[in-house]
Amino acid sequence: MHNDISEILVTEKEIADICIRLGSQLTKDYKDKNPILIGLLKGCMPFMSDLSRKIDLKFDMAYMSVSSYHGGIASSGDVKIKMDLDISIKGRDVLIIEDIVDTANTIVTIVELFKHRGANSVKMVTLLDKPEGRLRPYQPEYVGKVIPKAFVVGYGLDYDEYYRNLPYVGVLKPEVYNHE
Ligand code: 5GP
Repeated sequence: MHNDISEILVTEKEIADICIRLGSQLTKDYKDKNPILIGLLKGCMPFMSDLSRKIDLKFDMAYMSVSSYHGGIASSGDVKIKMDLDISIKGRDVLIIEDIVDTANTIVTIVELFKHRGANSVKMVTLLDKPEGRLRPYQPEYVGKVIPKAFVVGYGLDYDEYYRNLPYVGVLKPEVYNHE
């Protein structure tokens, strides 16, 4: 698995520091609120697990599964809900937890949906941001690290469902997906 990575972009130590920094910021910003953390599966999994333990507040956690890639390495722009929330978000302060923002097609669609469902506020926490990839204007409120436009895997991010368990985020060697 490690041999398929050409470069490590975010180390385990950096990820741990990001969770501490964002966790303490969120603890301050939401101290008088009762937020709901909504993770977008499956990529949010390790980040939401580590980040949530650095937020010193009471909050709900819920999950949703959306897809815009359909197996490849480029967004199709067509966002599909594969598994919806099991709770109401009406009147709630929602924090969406994502692994990465690229085109912003996914997050813009989900923010619109949550506002339509009556959320009081909708903000986003993303581990990674690739602003060069934007097709729609969107600035996430909480960003772990800005990275260049490359296809990355690890710490929740997959290629064809593999590599999510890498403890760091790295660039996949192009030959891994080009030979297919
Ligand atoms: P967007 O809709 O902003 O283009 O992309 C959001 C989703 O696309 C992310 O949640 C993630 O699933 C996927 N994605 C975007 N960039 C990457 C990347 O570099 N690597 C992987 N593995 N997935 C990505």
